[in-house]
Amino acid sequence: MRIRRGFSLVTLTICALVVNPAGTAVAAGDGAASLAAEATAAPPTATGYGGAVSTVDAEATRAGLEVLRRGGNAVDAAVAAAATLGVTEPFSAGIGGGGFFVYYDAKSGRVSTLDGREAAPASADERLFVNPDTGAAYAFDEARISGLSVGTPGTLATWREALRRWGTHSLADSLQPAIGVARDGFVVDSTFQSQVNDDKAAFAQFTSTRELYLPGGQAPAVGSVFRNRDLADTYAAIARDGIDAFYTGPIARDIVRTVQQPPVAADPSQPWAYPIRPGSLSLRDLAAYRVRTPMPTHSQYRGLDVYGMPAPSSGGTTVGEALNILEKVDLGGLDRTQALHHYLEASALAFADRNRYIGDGMLPWVQRQLLTDGFAAERACRIDPARAATKPVPPGVPDHRYGGCVATTGGAFDSYENHTTNLTVADRWGNVVEYTLTIEATGGNAMVVPGRGFLLNNELTDFNFVPTQGDAPDPNLPGPGKRPRSSMSPTIVLADGKPFLAVGSPGGSTIITTVLQILIGRIDLGMSLPQAIAAPRATQRNTATVTAEPAFSSSPEGQALAVLGHRYTPSAEIGAATGIEFLGGGRLLAAAEPARRGGGAAAVVWG
Ligand code: GLU
Repeated sequence: MRIRRGFSLVTLTICALVVNPAGTAVAAGDGAASLAAEATAAPPTATGYGGAVSTVDAEATRAGLEVLRRGGNAVDAAVAAAATLGVTEPFSAGIGGGGFFVYYDAKSGRVSTLDGREAAPASADERLFVNPDTGAAYAFDEARISGLSVGTPGTLATWREALRRWGTHSLADSLQPAIGVARDGFVVDSTFQSQVNDDKAAFAQFTSTRELYLPGGQAPAVGSVFRNRDLADTYAAIARDGIDAFYTGPIARDIVRTVQQPPVAADPSQPWAYPIRPGSLSLRDLAAYRVRTPMPTHSQYRGLDVYGMPAPSSGGTTVGEALNILEKVDLGGLDRTQALHHYLEASALAFADRNRYIGDGMLPWVQRQLLTDGFAAERACRIDPARAATKPVPPGVPDHRYGGCVATTGGAFDSYENHTTNLTVADRWGNVVEYTLTIEATGGNAMVVPGRGFLLNNELTDFNFVPTQGDAPDPNLPGPGKRPRSSMSPTIVLADGKPFLAVGSPGGSTIITTVLQILIGRIDLGMSLPQAIAAPRATQRNTATVTAEPAFSSSPEGQALAVLGHRYTPSAEIGAATGIEFLGGGRLLAAAEPARRGGGAAAVVWG
């Protein structure tokens, strides 16, 4: 969360700005003091009627709420909030990236999806991340901080498609709140500053990025006002000329130039360990980009209907498979340690199958089989209540011939954890949006498009760099036009055909287990939605150890799980979820993180 202005909707007067060439500004003297004084934490939970918004950031939540107040629907508000996150959460998401949008339409009762995932250039092949000189895969940072990692962004195309299908506002109108925030500025908080500092060496390599985010060689000060005039102008150009400005017009040319000739500084203040390689993304790739509209994944869990994203995201299938496995036991009737043991073991089994089978272009019948109860039963019988299985566990065989506990062979692999952002919106008509968007790593590929004010993604590093599945085919190797496998898991749960819960989170492959843990916390373990979001997290992604927040591993259940054989790798923080619960009679409970990532912001139209 970046802004601490609360929800008073005051118009801020910013005085004494010191403006740097890229358009950022640092408030000096009284201006900074008065803004900082107004900075108050927005609440992470809100209950009421007439629509609700939950994001990681108060300014974005406020933008969405204003749209709802003025009669816009959930899609209008989601796009306005997402565009604002592109300003205030620029290291997690923006028009240089992509995402997955899940929508419940109250009139038809249907759940639909938009796949706005970045696509590899037409020139990409399986060896995209293999060094031709050595035959070895690039190191992650070598691949990330390059033009090679950039996929054609899908975010703007997603916004336009969502508005065209279900919205009532134009894209131009939806961009206005974000243009205001980019021009007028917002107060830098410690999360923003630390994200710049964490990427300082990478940002320092590029003239455009250091100009914007390292004015005077330093990250913007906490409490200063940050403006991004270039991004305001970019949004304004898109508002005026439509998304063609981005996909075929002058912005497309600037993106391609940045990828093909990265704006490398001749005198970086910090050295970089690797050569910065150009990529081959072309104007043709940008012009060819299309949002896809796949059917959502669907599974039933204890009488509820759970909808999520299909391939190229592994989110819907992996969350759904794990729920199907967990449905074989009465989680709520188990003691908490056993319930969490089953959660960890089911996650590992579902991840083994994800890693083996899920990727862009996978056969639809395999995806369907992964979500059958027969397959889940076969997988569930591999859980031993008395001890944790040795990880990695092998994948199962979703071949429609299910019987006993089949023995399988093969290993598993999983990759990096990075950051992203998520938002949840509901409107007074009962429409719901769950939307996760990203530029992949925090800071994307670290290249701000010169003069345009936004960072490019490094989404293509979500492909496996080399085959990971032994003799079996790897479903997630790069290919021409292919979309890298994602873990983003925007999820909408219906009860009797009406919305019950909507939830999502950032966190790389931990997204899947965060969403799963929140769902079982709310559905099985007697927690409210805010409690399920706040609960200490642990994630078992078929790796030797469970990655866990200290509050999880040190809890009595965490220690009892260690006796069962679970070993921990500590992680300060996992995920940053948002969600809405539909309480009946039009009452809404919007919830965000109370503490992770500095705390999120939830709001309702009237309380
Ligand atoms: N690129 C990741 C994915 O699509 C998301 C990154 C993150 O959440 O940190 O799964």
